[in-house]
Amino acid sequence: MRWEPEAEKLLNRVPFFVRGKVRKKIEGLARERGQELVSKALVLEAKSLFRDKSAEIKEGFSVEACFGSSGCPNAVTESSSLLDKLEALLKEEDLTSFLREKVGGPLKHHHQFRVAVSDCPNACAQVHIKDFGLLGHVEPLLNGECKLCGSCVQQCQEQAVELGERFVLFDPVRCLGCGACLKVCPTGALVPGRVGYRVLVGGKLGRHPQLAYELVPWASPEEVVRLLKRVISFYKLYNQRGERLGEIISQQGWAKFKTYVLGDEGDNL
Ligand code: SF4
Ligand code: SF4
Ligand code: SF4
Repeated sequence: MRWEPEAEKLLNRVPFFVRGKVRKKIEGLARERGQELVSKALVLEAKSLFRDKSAEIKEGFSVEACFGSSGCPNAVTESSSLLDKLEALLKEEDLTSFLREKVGGPLKHHHQFRVAVSDCPNACAQVHIKDFGLLGHVEPLLNGECKLCGSCVQQCQEQAVELGERFVLFDPVRCLGCGACLKVCPTGALVPGRVGYRVLVGGKLGRHPQLAYELVPWASPEEVVRLLKRVISFYKLYNQRGERLGEIISQQGWAKFKTYVLGDEGDNL
């Protein structure tokens, strides 16, 4: 499919992590119409068409990912199979029927339970404003001879590494798990340790926006699936009229939510 330069220009205004998806949708529309060339007019028409369609939505949930698995050099996790599992769980939980019943009318964009995964701490998938957000995280591990060259110290934007007397020392509180230090170690002494996700919950935009809270600083892909199941269980239990998770957590209290999701209180309810 060919694109007019003006049409490409418009497409380039779309955030890069959803650009591929938008390109596919527009090309699909062009094909439906038997067109081989995407024009500026078609992009503008598609924009208003897609916006209208989103006024009433079909699914009660959405799952988004950043550009990581398409070759982003910053990616520290590979989340394709995890994304499939999360999506399967959301379908199994039938959030669409659940929300339809709670809302008592057509589902709108702001009702959706949103899940997003970013494959590094740069958070391009806007995980901080999603109901359930994941940030890829790799723990730097010293597993060889450190020559105290200081490259990793200079590379770290978080001041999470310092030179000790015989080797480098990491501050696990400051470290965001971006993996940048691993790439510059000349001796190969730094290797990836645990790879997983920082889990955030309860973020949202709208009339009362709020940034997500950190549920756990690190979770394996298996733990992520288990946590999402518990989060949805809480969300369903206390949802009255299709509120977003962040609102429910504010009403019920963070301590109660955290105990329910991480402890065993929920099994007794
Ligand atoms: S979040 Fe990280 S891995 Fe994902 S697209 Fe952004 S920079 Fe790349
Ligand atoms: S992983 Fe990133 S944040 Fe952590 S020490 Fe290395 S460079 Fe710093
Ligand atoms: S980059 Fe490697 S060799 Fe240099 S200080 Fe860091 S761990 Fe040691």
